[in-house]
Formats: sequence, C-alpha cells, structure tokens
Amino acid sequence: MNRDEIFNSIKNKPNLSVLIVGAGINGIGTFRDLALNGVDVLLVDRGDFCSGASAASSHMAHGGIRYLENGEFRLVREAVRERNRMIQNAPHIVRPLPTTIPMFKYFSGLLNAPLKFLGWLDKPSERGSVIIKLGLMMYDAYTGKTRTVPRHQFFSHTESLNRWKSLNPEIANTATYYDGLISNPERLALEILLDAEADNPNAHALNYVSMVSGEKDTIILRDELTDETYEVHPDLVINAAGPWIDFANHSLGLSTRYVGGTKGSHIVVDNPELREAIGGNEFFFENKDGRIVLLFPLFDKVLIGTSDIKIENPDEARCTDEEVDYFIGLVARVFPTIKVSPEQIVFRFAGVRPLAGSGAGKTTGQYSRDHHIEVLSGDWTNLNFPVYSLVGGKWTSFRAFSEQVTDKALAFLGKSRQKDTRDLPIGGGRGFSTDENEQKRQLEGFAAWTGLDKERLQVLYSRYGTRTEAVATFIKRAADAPLKSVPDYTRREIAFLVQHEKVIHLDDIVLRRTMLAMLGRLTRNGIQELADVMGESMDWDIKQKNAEVERTLGLLADMHGVVLSEAEG
Ligand SMILES: Cc1cc2nc3c(=O)[nH]c(=O)nc-3n(C[C@H](O)[C@H](O)[C@H](O)COP(=O)(O)OP(=O)(O)OC[C@H]3O[C@@H](n4cnc5c(N)ncnc54)[C@H](O)[C@@H]3O)c2cc1C
Repeated sequence: MNRDEIFNSIKNKPNLSVLIVGAGINGIGTFRDLALNGVDVLLVDRGDFCSGASAASSHMAHGGIRYLENGEFRLVREAVRERNRMIQNAPHIVRPLPTTIPMFKYFSGLLNAPLKFLGWLDKPSERGSVIIKLGLMMYDAYTGKTRTVPRHQFFSHTESLNRWKSLNPEIANTATYYDGLISNPERLALEILLDAEADNPNAHALNYVSMVSGEKDTIILRDELTDETYEVHPDLVINAAGPWIDFANHSLGLSTRYVGGTKGSHIVVDNPELREAIGGNEFFFENKDGRIVLLFPLFDKVLIGTSDIKIENPDEARCTDEEVDYFIGLVARVFPTIKVSPEQIVFRFAGVRPLAGSGAGKTTGQYSRDHHIEVLSGDWTNLNFPVYSLVGGKWTSFRAFSEQVTDKALAFLGKSRQKDTRDLPIGGGRGFSTDENEQKRQLEGFAAWTGLDKERLQVLYSRYGTRTEAVATFIKRAADAPLKSVPDYTRREIAFLVQHEKVIHLDDIVLRRTMLAMLGRLTRNGIQELADVMGESMDWDIKQKNAEVERTLGLLADMHGVVLSEAEG
C-alpha cells in the first residue's frame, strides 16, 4: 500500500492490535517481529524512519567490551551474540571489524576494575594491558564456538609500531579484537521495515506521522505533511520513541521520567593520511581524560567520536564546536604526527542515547546500556489500553529487545509465537555471499538478466546486496544516465529509491537512503540536481523543488555543520 492507501485503510478500519510509536531501530525491530507473527500493526514516526538516536550511532555492532567493567555481563553476552547474528543475517551491511586498542600502561586498572564493579569509582581512569587482556578473553569466550569473528591478538610495542607506522611510540602494546561494522545503519533499518511490510499485508509503516494525544480507547495521529488528523483504536501501544519516550507518554497524559539521556556526537573527516594510518581498523582507546573514544574507518573517511553529555531536551542535540576541538585533539593521543584541521570535517552529527535515568552509574559513561520494558496500565491512566515503553538498548541488541517486547505483546494479545527472527536474513542480505567467486557468479546472473554492465552491478551490489536484482531490473526499464554531481549514482537508481523506499523529502535521500551527506559528497548544484531528478518521480513543481532544496540546506547547516554555498557549485 502507498501512503494514501494506508491512510484510507486507517479511516475505514481504525481498530488495530498494536500501534508502535517511533520508527528507530527498536520500533522497527518490534514491527518486524510482530508482523512476522501475523499481528496487524501500525508503525508511525514523526520524522523519517531511523532519523533519531538510531541515525547517530558510532556504526558499531559490538558487545561493548567496556561494559564488562561495569559488571554488565548479561548485556555483553547478549550483544556479542546479536553482533554475530547481524553479521550473518545482514552481511551486505554488517561485516567483521578489526578493532585495535593502543595501551599506554601495563598494570594500572587492576585495582580500579573491582572498584568499578562495586560502583565505588566515580571517575574513569587508565586501563592497563593486563585488565584489557582479561576483558578480551571473556569477550572471546562470549563469541562462542561458531567463531563468526576471529579471536583477539596482543602485539608487543615493536610489533605494534611495525604494523601501524604512525602510531604513538609511547604506547606499551596493542591488542586487536573483532567487532562488527554497520556501514549504513539507516539502510539496514529501512530494509528490516520493508521486509516486515512485504511479509504481512496488515503491517503498515508511515513516516512523518506523529502521535499527538490519546484518551480512553483513542489515539490521535497527525500527518505532518498535511496536518490532517486520524483516530486509531489500538489494543496495545508500544512507545518506542527512544529519547522522546517521556514526551510521548506526556502526550497521553502519563507523567514518566524513564529516560535520562546522554548526548553523543561525531565528526566525519576527510584526511587521507589518517585514513591510511588506521587502515581497515577501528582504533578504540582511552583518551587522556579516561573517556573511551574511537577512530573508525567509514568508507574513504574517518569517523571520530564520541561524547557522553547529559541533556534534557533531545531536540537540542547538536555537535558543538567544543566537542569538535575535543575530537580533533584526541587523534594526537594515538597518531601524534597526523594533523586534523577543522576544514577537513565534512559532516557532524549528534544524537541522544535513550538510557534509563542516571543513578546506576556515576559518570555518564557508566550509565547502563541495557534495555527493559516499562508497562503503564490501569484505570489511573485514563487509557483503555496498556502502554509499553521501550527504555534503553543498543543498535546491536535491537533484535533481542524486539523479541522480548514481541513475546510480551503476543502474550497480551493471547497469541503464540509462530516464527522468530534469530536466523532471518535481512533485505539484500538474503542470499548474499561474502565469497568472491560466488559474488562473481551472482553478478554474472544479474548481468545476463538485466543487461547492466558488471562494474555498475558491482557498485549496486555493494549498496543493496541481493536487492541489486530488483534495482537493476527497475533501472533497465527506461533510459538512464549518471548524475552529473555524483556519477556513481544514476537517475533511475534515485527514482528506484524514491518509488520503493517510502521517500518523502529530499533530505531522506541525501541523509538516509544514501550516504551522500555523511561522506561529504554533496554540492549546492548536486542538491539541485537531486531535487530535479526526485521531482520527476514525486511530481514536484518548481515551488516544491525550491522548498525541498531550502529545507535540506537548512537541515545540513543546522544539524550537520555543512554549509554549501552557491559559489562553490
Ligand atoms: C552517539 C551515539 C552513539 C551510539 N553508538 C552505538 C553503536 O556504535 N552501537 C550500538 O549498538 N548502539 C549505539 N548507540 C545506541 C543506539 O543507537 C540507540 O540505543 C538506538 O538507536 C535507540 O533506538 P530507538 O529506536 O530506541 O530510538 P530512536 O532511534 O531515537 O527512535 C525513536 C523515534 O521516535 C520518534 N518519535 C518521537 N516522538 C514521537 C511521536 N510523538 N510520534 C511519532 N514518533 C515519535 C522519533 O522521531 C525517533 O525516530 C549509540 C547512540 C548514540 C546516541
């Protein structure tokens, strides 16, 4: 169903089993699991899909080795298992990532670790090699016998400097272990959502639709494009509004304080020397102030992050100049001869972790990343249905969290689970092979079927996995041409995204369906070109196109520090 058809169906049949509010990864994961189990479910987001905290992540599918020192063994074990599943179920987007920890001391941390377990240490302090070794052994054990990723290795001072020529000679040694790299979280989330809709004709997802209020058996939804409102009568509401959970509850007359979010920011830099220095590795290390920070290989750029700062209103989260200075400064700790300058920053972003309120840890870095469900129900709520609020969680553990929520929802609805998502491939990960020969064979098949040349198909395969067949078949149906501004994209490819991936605004394309903005590939003319191409599929007149260009330029400047002047083209 397209957007209008979904709205019509809501008008004709406002009763439904489950309404999910918030299409971040937790709302989307739960949507898929409920859909798979035959539940009629509606998912709404006031913005685009995966545009909140889920678009602000460090791109790591990880167990969270540092949570071991907070004693969060259950969380780490679950996240490692889920990391492995992501690598297996979405191999076109998630792949093993060698992660290197440079260490400056051998022994310190031995005393700190037990104090941290007991919650007596209120400041992070330097972790030594011995304590990291213990953590990595535990981490390896959690990976299990399947060995989705290799075991960790320790390198001596000399070996480390041989491997990474620009590394700070003051290091004691390094350790390399493996986690997962989510190259494009926004696409991954969208593919999960599209799978769910394809699987169940009674599962529908709408972006740019807000939950604005609720009373008795009714929730009022507002279409943010037209301001029109719609009534729905759900049996159950799942509040998956992430850092906005308490605001969403408030709109239902429920006063909660579940989330004590912390802001985290990142910058993306175009610094070929630094990119070459880290190679295919993430560098995950302790900065001078004891904070754990990262240098991360994101295509041909380097992602640098992140901060952990308390914030009250998630709408105000921005990556500040002060954070930028901190990020630039931390590079010198590991690669002292490599200079990063502010002009090399191509993109900034910030988001708020929807963590359970403080209390549990003494520094923001020690707040638990675990997840749980808060249930509100009963006469006092003035609502005839219960509200489940999804608090906390990590991108990596979304599937397990969604499974937990779905089990609870199914029990409430009196249904039993028929299918689970543990080994369920995602989108273009279905039938995707990481084996080069098998990939070649698949691409030859697509080439014979669609007539597109192999180089082009290879590019599509790296973006869409096995959905390449659908993209290429669509492309072939009409005349195509590369975009002038980014020739590795074509007009028909953009048209495919617009027509098949629930695109509403120009910024949905530049920020989430593609990585053009994050990788610093946009120009003023390029934005105009994209608006022209999209306009053909969306029937935009000149006024609408201009409005879309202005909206995108405004968002890029305000949220991402990207100012594109006309003079630069
Ligand atoms: C800086 C940072 C780095 C991180 N790095 C990692 C990492 O590397 N690996 C990892 O595993 N995890 C990481 N995380 C954690 C992870 O990204 C989050 O825990 C996860 O994305 C939360 O998803 P969510 O669906 O709960 O919330 P969100 O993604 O924020 O989704 C909530 C949605 O609700 C919508 N909404 C709000 N109010 C309403 C309303 N009234 N009506 C309709 N919709 C509404 C919002 O628009 C939003 O899209 C990181 C988080 C941050 C902030």
